[in-house]
Amino acid sequence: MSPDYDVVIIGAGMVGASLACALAPLGLRIAIIESVTLSNEQQPSYDDRGLTLSPSTKRILEQINVWPQVQVYATPIKKIHVSEQGRFGFTHIDAAETEYSELGNVVVARSLGLALHKRMSDFENVKLICPAELKHFQRTDSGMILEISRSGDIETMSAGLLVGADGSNSLVRRLAGINTRENDFKQTVIVSNVTTQKPNNLTAYERFTPHGPVALLPIDKDRSVLVFTVDGKNAEHYLNMSDKQYIDAIETEFGRRLGKIKQVGQRRSYPLRFIEAIEQYQEQLVLLGNAVHTIHPNTAQGFNLGLRDVAGLAECIFRGIEKGRAINDICILEDYIKLRYDDQQYVMRFTNKLASCFYNKLPLLSSTRNFAMLLIDILPNLKKSFVERRMGLAGLQPRFVRGQSL
Ligand SMILES: Cc1cc2nc3c(=O)[nH]c(=O)nc-3n(C[C@H](O)[C@H](O)[C@H](O)COP(=O)(O)OP(=O)(O)OC[C@H]3O[C@@H](n4cnc5c(N)ncnc54)[C@H](O)[C@@H]3O)c2cc1C
Repeated sequence: MSPDYDVVIIGAGMVGASLACALAPLGLRIAIIESVTLSNEQQPSYDDRGLTLSPSTKRILEQINVWPQVQVYATPIKKIHVSEQGRFGFTHIDAAETEYSELGNVVVARSLGLALHKRMSDFENVKLICPAELKHFQRTDSGMILEISRSGDIETMSAGLLVGADGSNSLVRRLAGINTRENDFKQTVIVSNVTTQKPNNLTAYERFTPHGPVALLPIDKDRSVLVFTVDGKNAEHYLNMSDKQYIDAIETEFGRRLGKIKQVGQRRSYPLRFIEAIEQYQEQLVLLGNAVHTIHPNTAQGFNLGLRDVAGLAECIFRGIEKGRAINDICILEDYIKLRYDDQQYVMRFTNKLASCFYNKLPLLSSTRNFAMLLIDILPNLKKSFVERRMGLAGLQPRFVRGQSL
């Protein structure tokens, strides 16, 4: 007997919703289950965070026809300036010196959510079931039987392939008995919008200070998203400061490159953990996004990486269907991992190294990273490869990332 749906995705956050948009044109019957409505303040994926979308993400969003809607709210990054407080080494990357017209785009997560959900609603073969929550699943020979809680009732449905895109505390991962490697960074990110005296000239700043990295991402001429990573122990202290005290603290760390900070918006805090699932897939099941790797936001890569995984999975499902394979044929998931493993490992290693390196105050390490920044700035080939990696354009990549359709 054929299942109710070819694919059931748990979680309509950024990654789950993107997968639905990528798979829908293949004509598959898709259900996507989400526990928190898009308009709810508690929606974990779509809040007021400013997200940096890499050029690889833009290409994928173009291919799945979401970019035209995102572009309306996006601010291009033309330059990146990386420096360390009290050191002379810095790296400066200008899109004009590369073959790319921009180095990324900044968009508020809520706007990205609206664009993804609008695109999903274009497809009759995608059914968004929200608010509803996965409670349990059971594997059978013909597919997964899922128990979904909806308005206090338990409904069952069957799926050929179950996708766990249900975030860092993934229930799909736990029910499947998949273990994790975890690390508490003991750091908290504080995010707020700021208005500055001088225009940002579409420049993203990253500054490493003894208290943690500070990033300023442009969202308008004189407005930027301020991302301040602090020692977890000090988070409450920064959150409880008055706006004036907080502005003073930021100016002390960041300096006055953009003149005075005239205004600071609401502060939101995010305690940071690293989570890596030991297995990414099992029979009839695959994990995506934060459910499979939750990484430090210092390199702004979490969603960008998750979306390249979405592109890889959609491509392998498409190729599998072309070969006449069933949606839950394990070969599809094996092909997917072959395509995505190197990029995943590179991003996780790089992000973890940066998280530990820039918190280490040992003089030798400090001089080494200062030297590394100088080298990147001086050597064109090193800079090119660094930039392409950060843009998600290096190595073996899915067709969408190469600007090709399936
Ligand atoms: C401060 C900060 C800044 C960041 N900046 C960037 C950036 O600039 N660029 C970038 O690429 N990445 C960035 N990231 C990372 C990015 O936010 C994550 O990679 C992304 O949100 C992961 O999306 P997801 O859909 O996998 O998970 P989530 O966003 O956690 O979504 C999971 C969804 O599943 C739902 N759900 C959970 N359990 C169930 C259930 N049982 N049943 C039904 N639904 C369920 C949840 O309600 C949620 O909507 C940042 C992260 C942080 C914390």
